[in-house]
Formats: sequence, C-alpha cells, structure tokens
Amino acid sequence: MFKRFLLIFSVLIVVVLSFAVCSKIGVGKYDILVKNGKIIDGTGNPWFHGDIGIKGDTIAEIGDLSGKTAVKTIDARGMTVSPGFIDMHTHCDDGLNRSASSANLNYLIQGTTTVVTGNCGGSVSLKVAETKKKWEDQGIGTNVVYLVGFGTIRRSVMGEEPRKAKPEEIEKMQAILRQSMKEGAWGMSTGLEYIPDRYADTEEVIELTKVVGEFGGIYTSHMRDESTRIIEAVEETIRIGEETGVPVNIAHFKVCGKDIWGLIKDAVKVVNDARARGIYITADQYPYVQSAPVGPIMSIPNVPEDMEPLAEIRKKMRDGNLPDSEREKLREQYVDELKKALSDKSKKEQIKKLTLEGLPDDPSDIAMWGWHNYTILVAEKNTHLIGKNISDLAREQKRDAFDIVVNLIIDEPDMLYSGGSMSEDDLQYALRQDWLMVSSDGGASPIKKKTDKPRPGHPRAYGSQTKVLRKYVREEKILTLENAIRKMTSLPASFLQMKDRGMLSGGYKADIVIFDPETVRDNSTYADAHQYSSGVEYVIINGKISIENGEYNDALNGKVLLLTENK
Ligand SMILES: [Zn+2]
Repeated sequence: MFKRFLLIFSVLIVVVLSFAVCSKIGVGKYDILVKNGKIIDGTGNPWFHGDIGIKGDTIAEIGDLSGKTAVKTIDARGMTVSPGFIDMHTHCDDGLNRSASSANLNYLIQGTTTVVTGNCGGSVSLKVAETKKKWEDQGIGTNVVYLVGFGTIRRSVMGEEPRKAKPEEIEKMQAILRQSMKEGAWGMSTGLEYIPDRYADTEEVIELTKVVGEFGGIYTSHMRDESTRIIEAVEETIRIGEETGVPVNIAHFKVCGKDIWGLIKDAVKVVNDARARGIYITADQYPYVQSAPVGPIMSIPNVPEDMEPLAEIRKKMRDGNLPDSEREKLREQYVDELKKALSDKSKKEQIKKLTLEGLPDDPSDIAMWGWHNYTILVAEKNTHLIGKNISDLAREQKRDAFDIVVNLIIDEPDMLYSGGSMSEDDLQYALRQDWLMVSSDGGASPIKKKTDKPRPGHPRAYGSQTKVLRKYVREEKILTLENAIRKMTSLPASFLQMKDRGMLSGGYKADIVIFDPETVRDNSTYADAHQYSSGVEYVIINGKISIENGEYNDALNGKVLLLTENK
C-alpha cells in the first residue's frame, strides 16, 4: 500500500515539475523578445547588436538573449531598434480630447510614443487629473506629457484685458497653476507673441514660473519674438530660467523673415553663453523652413468684422457640423464677395489698413512679421511663382506688396502660401547644436479614411521625426543616426528629467520603435499634408505592440505621464 502511494506520489511530483518546466519554456520567459536588431540606445552612443527582452511594460534585459524565448518574438534583422520618440513640442491635446483622433496615429506611425502637449501658452484644460482620467478611459494612442498653458490660466483669471496683472491676480494665477502641478502637470508653456500672454511682462511670467519650480517642473516658451527682436526674446527666456532655477526651453527655435536670415548664429551664441554660465536652457525645432499659417492666399487679407456680406459668410463657415458640399459653396461665395470688395476702392482701403496694421492691441500678422515672411508654396496656374517671397516680388516688380496679393487672389485664390519663412542654413545650424531637440508643432489628426481627398496644410504633424531620419541623416548626412535619435529620445527625456524613458536600458519602460533606416521617410507635403510616414515597422508602447509590420492594430496603449509619478 505504502509502495503504491509512493509511486503515485512520485508520478505526481514528476507531472507537477514537468508542468513547471514546460510553463517556463513553453509560455516563455519574456512577453516580447526583439531579436537581431541594431540597437541604438538613445544616448548618442554607436549602435550595437543585441536582443531586448520585455516583461510587462518594462525592458527586462538587453544583450545576447539567444536561447531565451517569449510569447511573441520579433525578428528585427536589418532594422534599427531605438527608444520611442519623444516629441517636445506638439498641440495634440485638442485632438486627444476627441475619439476620432485620440489614437494620435499621425505621430504613432512615425515612431513617436510620447508627445508633450499644452504648448505655446494654450492647453485644452487646467484640470490635469480630470483630463488624465477622461483620456485614459476613452483610450489614447501615445503617451502624453501635459503642460499647462500660461495664456489659458491668465484668460481664466483676467480675460483678454490688455494690461499687466495686479498682485492679487498673480496670486490667483499661481493658485491655479499650483493645483495643476499638484495633479501632475509637467510644467508651464507660454506663447508670449500671442494674446493674452503678450500683455504679461517678464516679472509676471517669473512669478508663475517659480510655482513650477516648487514641483521640479519645466518652462517652455514660444517666445515674444521670432524675428527682428529674437535676441531680446532669447534673453528674456534666459532671465526666466536664471531667476527661477527652472529648466527653460525655447520652442520651435527659428528666425522668421528673409531679410534677417543668418541671425540664428547670434541667437545660438546667446544660448551657449547662458549654458556656459550654468543656466539649463535647451531648444526644440521642427525640420521645415516654412511655418504656419499655411493656407490659400485668399485668407491673407484681414476683413473688418462688420464688412458684409463677408462677415456673415465667415460666421456660417465656422459651423463645425457643416457638410463638405455646403462648406464648398460658402467658400466660393466668399471668394466672389472678397474679389468684389477688393475691386471697390473704399472697401479695399479698409481691408488693406486692417491687414497691414491690425487693431491697437492686436497687431496683424503683417505688422508683426512683414511681407518677407510670406512665400508662395503651391500654385496650379502661376507655377512660376512657387517658392517666391512676396517681398522679393514687390521689389522685382516695383509694386506694392498688398496690390500683388490682391491680384494673385483675383487670379488664383487657392494658391497656397506660408506666413513664416526660414532659411535652410539657419535650420541646419541650429540642428547641429547639442542641445537642440527634434519636435513637430503639430496636432493629433483623425485616422485617415481611404476615401479622404488630399488636403493642403503644414506637413509637420505627419513627418517631422521621419523627415529628420530621411533628409538630415540618410540623404544629407548632417547628423549621424545615433545623434538624430538622441535628439528625439534621451535629450527631451533628460530635459524633462523622466526617470525611465528615452533610453533603451534594463528597467526602463518598453517604449520602442523598430524601423528600416534605409526606407524610413516622411510622405506629407504642403499640397497633401495628411500622408502617413512609412518605414516604421513596429512600435511598442508601455510594453504593448501598436504598430506591427507597418500597420496600426487599433490598440490604444498610451498613458498620461504625470510629473508626480514619472520624474
Ligand atoms: Zn508656438
């Protein structure tokens, strides 16, 4: 009897043990194993051969993992494996707020796993905890670092009144910001060129930035000027960093306007001098020499609010639920009426004054930036004008710039223009700086349908990271692949002081992109601005696959990363 019992017992032990062994081998040690890739770890160090084992949302091990198994194995032979890209400057919050665009696919498919949003002084909400809950409940495609917009705070306390804040108003603003930081905002953005931010003096911005400092957050700024007074604007940013001790970042670093191209060198020198003094200042840049606005040339003139019937048509066009056919009809009507108004001497004078000057506390784009920022990008009829600057045209033709624009509107109203003009030399000079990150300045777009027609616009939201990999790494060899990736990963992570993202290392979060360095590219253009990038084969975010064999699998694996939990 006892022998029999022993036999059964031994058999049971063997069965149990073999189950244990089987489960270890069969089901695998890792959840995901990325094998045979060239690993670029994000630090700027040269690539190395290796495998990456992922468990849960974390990188468990990197190295030679041959013999190890996993639930899912990805063969990355011929591919580059890098940390997921972190885009330091986006305006994704509005898109993430809507279910149609919350997948953030235009970023995800470029390999971007984290977007920093709430930039240029504007954020969709001041309630960070509530926003996190809403977004994560509905699901988001990428991780998000949430900034609070100074303009949004200021507007909530004092509207758009064109004056400095009173001490009690500053206290109110500080209290709002302090609450947002407590809830996990990563810092504050300003848009000092815009209303209402522009009404604040430097001291007011400093008083608020001090609150960011209480939590170890960051400050990033669309500066007061990106044109003739850029040096003063950089100095203001430095002063804010110096007086608060908060790390400061210059958003979409650039010099706008053909007449002052080259000034970037002086601006870079001011930044380098400040860094030498120990001020933590960085910058980000989108890799395009045109800025927004990008639009049809007929949208350049500022039409007075009370000039009918144009005002009425514009009001109707603002209705978000308008069917495309209706919108098209209204647009045609608007063009006809605009042409009529521009042919009427007195109406034309009124439009010209508002276009050139703007309102007393709200100067027009032309007043701020000048015609030397205006460039023709796309034309079907006047193809000889593509790439031409309006200032140059005025000089060549010895005519008034506004009159030239009026004639172009009458001839080809849909001709596409950009309202910010930078030089390629300036762009590359800034890009070469160690402290310059790659960003995009774009938003989250709804997932494209096959039936969508090409739409003009700025291509940056669909192609900034991939354009750098194509143009500045592969084609022009301005940056090594390792350095370009550093500018998209560990550099922003280090500025934000993220504890476990932006590098491939054991214990770091598994935000990983696998791409073909020979084919990765942007596909968006100004004429067709909503084309997805290609060449990114896999995107893993928080340890889960979202892009597989270049296709999106509908997963919403993103999280809102709070400063309070991720620094
Ligand atoms: Zn901006």
